[in-house]
Amino acid sequence: MLGPVILAASRSDALRRTISAAPLTKPVVRRFIAGESVEATAPAIETMASQGLEVTLDVLGEDVTDPAEATRSRDAYLRLIEVLGPLQLGERAEMSVKLSCMGQALDGGHDIALKNVTAIVEAANAIGTTVTLDAEDHTTVDSTLAIHSALRERFPRTGAVVQSYLFRTEEDCRRLAAAGSRVRLVKGAYKEPASVAYQDKAEVDKAYVRCLRVLMEGDGYPMVGSHDPRLIAIGQELAQRAGRKLADYEFQMLYGIRTAEQHRLAAEGHRMRVYVAYGTDWYGYFMRRLAERPANLAFFLRSLAGR
Ligand code: FAD
Repeated sequence: MLGPVILAASRSDALRRTISAAPLTKPVVRRFIAGESVEATAPAIETMASQGLEVTLDVLGEDVTDPAEATRSRDAYLRLIEVLGPLQLGERAEMSVKLSCMGQALDGGHDIALKNVTAIVEAANAIGTTVTLDAEDHTTVDSTLAIHSALRERFPRTGAVVQSYLFRTEEDCRRLAAAGSRVRLVKGAYKEPASVAYQDKAEVDKAYVRCLRVLMEGDGYPMVGSHDPRLIAIGQELAQRAGRKLADYEFQMLYGIRTAEQHRLAAEGHRMRVYVAYGTDWYGYFMRRLAERPANLAFFLRSLAGR
């Protein structure tokens, strides 16, 4: 019940200002956010790489309100690519980009976002890596998938993300799997209306399994984005049944969540990619992590109270 309330709060500017400024917030935030700058985050990336983990990097920020802000977000990714280049990690360190950060919600936003993200994908390609387009709220899905499709004409390794809570996603999976692309499947982290999305957790999980089956049986590269032990086991089983080798799919989890399980899967020979978010604009990302697990909220409130 708490989840939807926290998700609504994640859109409040007043709360954003209050919570972002509270000094005691920081230790809790640090569990999920790897650093405030690329320089502060680079050591964590190298450590994870040396432990056999792969990463996808997210420069935090979303819902930009003017083109200059979108340009700044694009430049933050270009700076990240400059730092990644010498590390020579190739696709072991890719990037996740939110198109709302690239200006998608502005007037003429589809084209602005396409132009900005194209610059990032070109630079990523030049250092031997790639980009995955994060999924945001349902009103953006058509534009995001159209941009994904346009990018794949020149950069076929560009990844898409689909959310099992949306009714449309099984069909999207069918199309994406047939096209051979890299597809991350997640449950979905936004507050969506009953007209477009399953509201019941069990329905979302069942839809996840249906979508995963389509992806595993298809021609693409499935990326299983979940911490759910049941879905991870089902993912392994479906991959095996579809005749996939360990290199033909991967698991993905968020930085700071089920870290021991991340290491366990990597040690078993699975490709395990950690989604590492960094930057100063962490509020929306952090609130979605709280909404996913009420126990995180209790921990957060205790920290605010100084206990
Ligand atoms: P759940 O049933 O929520 O969790 C299963 C178990 O995992 C829980 O019992 C708990 O032990 C642990 N767990 C899960 N979440 C937390 C948490 N926040 N804190 C502590 N423990 C937790 N969503 C989008 O809408 N768009 C995206 O682009 C997107 N990208 C993602 C990328 C990756 C790599 C991952 C892993 C998730 C992404 N998500 C994205 C979030 C996703 O939609 C879910 O909200 C999130 O993964 C929680 O669902 P779950 O599958 O882990 O299952």
